[in-house]
Amino acid sequence: MKDNKIKKNTQAIRDIQHFGEEGGVVPVIDHSATSTFLNTSDMEKVFQGDLQGCYLYSRHSNPTVTAFSKKLAAMEYTEAAFGVASGMAAISCTIEQLLLDGGHIISSNTIYGGTWALFNNILSKRPNISISFVDPDNAEAFQKAIKPNTKLIYTETMSNPLLAISDISSLSKVAKKNNIPLVVDNTFTPVLVSPKQLGADIIVYSCTKYISGNSDLIAGAICASQDFISQLIDVNSGVAMLYGPVMDPNIAYQLYSRLDHLPLRMLAHSKAAKFLVDKMLEAGIKNIYYPGLPEHPQHNLFKQMRSSEEYIYGGMITLDCGSLEKATALSQLLQEQKFGLFAVSLGFSRTLLSCPSASTSSEIPEEEQKKIGLKPGLLRMSIGLIGDDEILAKKFIDSYNKVCG
Ligand SMILES: *Cc1c(COP(=O)(O)O)cnc(C)c1O
Repeated sequence: MKDNKIKKNTQAIRDIQHFGEEGGVVPVIDHSATSTFLNTSDMEKVFQGDLQGCYLYSRHSNPTVTAFSKKLAAMEYTEAAFGVASGMAAISCTIEQLLLDGGHIISSNTIYGGTWALFNNILSKRPNISISFVDPDNAEAFQKAIKPNTKLIYTETMSNPLLAISDISSLSKVAKKNNIPLVVDNTFTPVLVSPKQLGADIIVYSCTKYISGNSDLIAGAICASQDFISQLIDVNSGVAMLYGPVMDPNIAYQLYSRLDHLPLRMLAHSKAAKFLVDKMLEAGIKNIYYPGLPEHPQHNLFKQMRSSEEYIYGGMITLDCGSLEKATALSQLLQEQKFGLFAVSLGFSRTLLSCPSASTSSEIPEEEQKKIGLKPGLLRMSIGLIGDDEILAKKFIDSYNKVCG
């Protein structure tokens, strides 16, 4: 049963076909900043909100961005999607739109550092916005944190960098009971987990990561109901339209094409990660954070949540090296050994290594880092999909033994 789902979302991607001009097998890139109205009376109707679905101006909608958005929406099982300039644009536009009149957010406490900083250092400074951070492992804590003015629940499918898994079905029940949307950042697990199928309402992505796969562009997307996407691009009150962090059509074209091999890439990343973890375990390496380990707190939950067991456990591995010094020394050696590159971000064809406490999670104050188990010696690895797994595992284990052994 479950294994059909992998084929289903792959088929959904495949079924989207935008022909180029003259019947090309790929869409053309529509560079036009503005669109002609053949009937002059239609333009006024668009501005008054009486006519929808027209191309007007590329900050509002663009045919190439729409081609990408439709393909992504098909993959996500959502009615619609909207490509934006970055993952942070996807997150900030979504939250701002839901909080136009202010309100309260309940967020899991193990979120991406940038999102944490947006919530804590920008949004919560406003007099009409407040935020509660709760343990993502505990759906009851979300219910307890509900206030009369709670506008949304926010979480990440797989958290950064500890790779904890949110129980999306349970959180969606809390959201539905309180008549508010569940917003899920699925950046670490595209295709592998389909949050909409588990009850999420709005799915946000940093397309910079796996969806791009090539670490050569910055992009984001929001997948939701047609109604919510229409709100975002409303000429009078749409946050995406009025703040304007739109996706460039050149980038939309690239992402449109790259979605075709996203499922294959996710399989390859996942296989390579599993191979390395098995070798690490054989070598007696401990303190590995990886959802495939039986001792991972949400191991069984994640198994149920995956769209297919073929995707194994995803392409991310985190390791506690004991101290920041050891984590950085190991990274240095791994880079010299050509095991990977010491760089933030993830989802690249090559392995990327980073020390979150001193980089992507450094926005989170030390006190808070301690509370959520974010240890200074963590080394986060986004496992690449190219190379000889045996050779790479040997490089890793030799380097580990030199630095941490
Ligand atoms: C990178 C990342 C973001 C931010 O995305 P950008 O494309 O860099 O703006 C948000 N959430 C998660 C989980 C990320 O990894």
